[in-house]
Amino acid sequence: MSFLIEHNVPSRKLTSLGAGGDIFTHVKISHPNDFKELHFLSKKDNIRLFALGNGTNLLLPDENSSYFLISTAISMPCTFEKNKHQYLVTVACSLPLPVFLAELASKGLKGFEGLAGIPGTVGGAIAMNAGSYGVEIGTKLAQIELWSLKNGLEIIKAKDFRTAYRSFEFDGSDDFWLAFQASFLFTEIDTKENIKKNMQHYKSLKQATQPVKARSAGCIFKNPPQQTAGKLLDEAGMKNISRGNFTFSDLHANFLVNTAKENEISVAADALELIALAKEKVFNKFNINLETEVCIL
Ligand SMILES: Cc1cc2nc3c(=O)[nH]c(=O)nc-3n(C[C@H](O)[C@H](O)[C@H](O)COP(=O)(O)OP(=O)(O)OC[C@H]3O[C@@H](n4cnc5c(N)ncnc54)[C@H](O)[C@@H]3O)c2cc1C
Repeated sequence: MSFLIEHNVPSRKLTSLGAGGDIFTHVKISHPNDFKELHFLSKKDNIRLFALGNGTNLLLPDENSSYFLISTAISMPCTFEKNKHQYLVTVACSLPLPVFLAELASKGLKGFEGLAGIPGTVGGAIAMNAGSYGVEIGTKLAQIELWSLKNGLEIIKAKDFRTAYRSFEFDGSDDFWLAFQASFLFTEIDTKENIKKNMQHYKSLKQATQPVKARSAGCIFKNPPQQTAGKLLDEAGMKNISRGNFTFSDLHANFLVNTAKENEISVAADALELIALAKEKVFNKFNINLETEVCIL
């Protein structure tokens, strides 16, 4: 078995938001053959599996009842295959999204510039169908290779998955699954310089409007149809409202930021209380039920 198992990892080290006081077992899968061990693990009493990318969209609890967090760490180079006017790009899902975007820019492949500035892994971005400035990662996804508790190793092709705003589903995706490799199809090209310039443009827009340097999980709530959650939260008076170490940002009201000093424990219950308060305030003022975007374990 070439599992990499780390016990006693404090939850605050596993996510960008840094909430939670408890410890977790973190398992890294470095070869597709290792997945069968996961099956045995899942059969052990009281162990539940949860897929972890870079934890940039995740709120972990104060008490870990039974979860093992599972990531992939399969190293493989990004490959590019040209077929007439199409380019098939295959990447490891553990690759950080910013590194993937830099690879695309270096090959002059156009289409994902709006995703610049989104942290996390390619796998996490697929699971969330991450997007910004009108671009969603799922739109160019041709297939993913994954392991699921239900079917073991499988390849899911574009015709067999469904993407929507911050949602990615296929038959069996409601149970544990972990993507380890993905292929994307690109049809448009541009110069490296133009692509890099556009990526920088979108990054600068984010830096000007979002607390990108603070500890956060990105947007806490999804935007309701024809509305932006940030504006609703701002108008409901949530900017600068705090509980414990968590505050809704003054710069962007949909960002919950953790202001703790290093090694200080930030209680997930405080973050949950603020999230519940924000939902209540928005509902009372606008009769709109905000849905969380952040994954809450
Ligand atoms: C400053 C900041 C800005 C952000 N801006 C944006 C933005 O503009 N747009 C946007 O969409 N998001 C944004 N996010 C949120 C976040 O970065 C994205 O959702 C990101 O794609 C999550 O990737 P991750 O690897 O960190 O996933 P994690 O947070 O680790 O996990 C998120 C979900 O994906 C699942 N998952 C992770 N990896 C895998 C895998 N390999 N296989 C199966 N499931 C997996 C997890 O189980 C979980 O349900 C932002 C976050 C921050 C901190």
